[in-house]
Amino acid sequence: MPATDLNPGAPRWPEGQRSCVALAFDLDGPTGDAMLDGSIWNNPSYFTLGSYGPWRALERLLDMLDERKVPATFFVPAWVVENWPEQCAAIVARGHEIGYHGYKHEAFWTLDADGQRAVMERSAQVFDKYLGIRPVGFRTPSGDWGPDTIRVLMEAGVRYSSSMRGDDRPYLLHAPGMAEPMVEIPGRWEMDDYASLAYHRNPNFPASLDRIASYDTTLDNWRREFDGSHRDGLCLTTLFHPKVSGKPGRIALLESLIDHMHAQGGVWFATCRDVAQWWRDNSASPTPQEAPR
Ligand SMILES: [Zn+2]
Repeated sequence: MPATDLNPGAPRWPEGQRSCVALAFDLDGPTGDAMLDGSIWNNPSYFTLGSYGPWRALERLLDMLDERKVPATFFVPAWVVENWPEQCAAIVARGHEIGYHGYKHEAFWTLDADGQRAVMERSAQVFDKYLGIRPVGFRTPSGDWGPDTIRVLMEAGVRYSSSMRGDDRPYLLHAPGMAEPMVEIPGRWEMDDYASLAYHRNPNFPASLDRIASYDTTLDNWRREFDGSHRDGLCLTTLFHPKVSGKPGRIALLESLIDHMHAQGGVWFATCRDVAQWWRDNSASPTPQEAPR
């Protein structure tokens, strides 16, 4: 469908497509706070909640993406690659992208510049050794980054991030003192499967209320987010997690969502890497944003 009725100032997408969808999954596995503080080694059940992602859910997801012929980006802590190298190699072999997501899902805003550099260097070594790749994308683990982060990332060869929330189109981030901008592909909590589908026993309140959202409601929310993005010719990415939504019942939500997108026509499905490259080459960003300091 040619993009004939876009809002003035809306981005133009390749081949006249109306809107852009960059499906993205955070393959965290069991990494995160409990691994960083070591407590996960006393909580084997909790470990398996996370390991289900690379061990079991990932292949189901890859099959689903194959069937629908849509590319995706997987942001993967390097520790997950070290421990499930064959599963992670399948991501690359099946045509998808892998981006940085910490070594053990470190919160970058808690690390000084050298600490962040060490995480990036170790991650680069792991990706090279096990997968033979050099990622150019990054999604910050645990929510935020620090004043040094954008420079550390640029120096590590990162050319785009999907970490911020400041727009519903990509935009350019300028690191102080660096000529080349970084492309930011912002996400949003509405497209985070944790928000509706992650079940927690702790804290055990509020008592007697539902602990996860209904699947119908969740799919309806996601569809509406896409519909708005498509209507206005924007860029939608996701913060989905294989361990959360790559399960036998929940995978149907993703199937339905992608089928709904396909049915509208005029969607450019692309990896975040391709979106960033296209945006860099055709940037229509009216007001490049300064990197937060
Ligand atoms: Zn994550």
